[in-house]
Amino acid sequence: MDCGRHNAPVTRCRIAANSSPRKVVRILLRWFAAHARDLPWRRTRDPYSIWISEVMLQQTQVATVIPYYERWLRSLPTVCALATAAPQRVLKLWEGLGYYTRARNLHAAARHIVAQRDGRFPDALDELLKLPGVGRYTAGAVASIAFNQPAPILDGNVTRVLTRLHGIAEDPRGKMTSARLWQLAQGLVSVAAEPNPVPRIRGMVLSGSCSALNQSLMELGALVCTPRAPRCGECPLRGFCVAHRTGRAGELPCAAPRARVVQKRVVAFVLERRGRFLLRQRPAGGVNAGLWEFPTAELSGNRTPAAAARSQFGAATEVEPLIVLRHSITSQRISLHAVRVHCNGDAVLPAGRWCTGKALRTLPLARAHRRVAERLSATPA
Ligand code: SF4
Repeated sequence: MDCGRHNAPVTRCRIAANSSPRKVVRILLRWFAAHARDLPWRRTRDPYSIWISEVMLQQTQVATVIPYYERWLRSLPTVCALATAAPQRVLKLWEGLGYYTRARNLHAAARHIVAQRDGRFPDALDELLKLPGVGRYTAGAVASIAFNQPAPILDGNVTRVLTRLHGIAEDPRGKMTSARLWQLAQGLVSVAAEPNPVPRIRGMVLSGSCSALNQSLMELGALVCTPRAPRCGECPLRGFCVAHRTGRAGELPCAAPRARVVQKRVVAFVLERRGRFLLRQRPAGGVNAGLWEFPTAELSGNRTPAAAARSQFGAATEVEPLIVLRHSITSQRISLHAVRVHCNGDAVLPAGRWCTGKALRTLPLARAHRRVAERLSATPA
């Protein structure tokens, strides 16, 4: 079924249907040898390092990930080091990357590897899939990149390349279409597993041609077959590509329906007592679980942060605006109004921990609250 975004479904082009996967694989391997970026996680075959990089790269740009990856491996260089680290240390190393479930899952998986496998990293796809937070993509990436196994991968970049190459107009999130894309990815990496010259790339440690093929698909999606304005003129696959031939590269893959955006106003109360600040920890199971933040309250209607502070801490409360931040969590657009609150001794304060300025720097804070803390240290009372 067409996803409804196009006037007419793209029919499968003979050229793509008949293109030899061997030719495609050969071209991709050659292209990758000439164009691969020199990235820190490409200088190793260590499955632990590759796993960390793959999880960090989900939902996050390469340039953002590099300093996090390097800092993480300096602090927790092995799976055993991660398994024995305190949860707050793990969250602190992840602070600012968002989607903190990824960090908690890494921690749980490392503990599983140490407890159940004596610290040996699994190399088989089915064993990798047993690790907390490891889905088909991550398992395939680690199996192929670290161990050169013919395991397919399908992330956003690979999905884009394959839907365009084969002119697939159906929604790639649909069950049948997704199964077809996995099959196409499997077909290519299986061909790569046949005897192929392994590309020699300066500065890169490659486990073999399955690793190179999977990385070449991701690299092509990241550098050439980009979401907007794909550079078909520079693409090594343009001779095989249905979307390019039919002038629909910019329309594929079919976009997900946009989620309804919800606007939200929130006030963060910065309460100080004898040089300490009140923080509370986010509860388990929710957004940003385990991270610390200043106490917050949602602002309804036109209610001002000052009115919210006075209704909570008493009419005599003095309120000093600190900073207004705009950020998003999934489809919520949040404006966070941080205010310094000076209340009298009778005020009933929320439960939490009174933290020194040093603790404020060392505890893991959600990104917006980290910015509030930074503003606070730049704005003496
Ligand atoms: S020819 Fe264009 S649309 Fe096709 S794979 Fe290459 S960059 Fe993508």
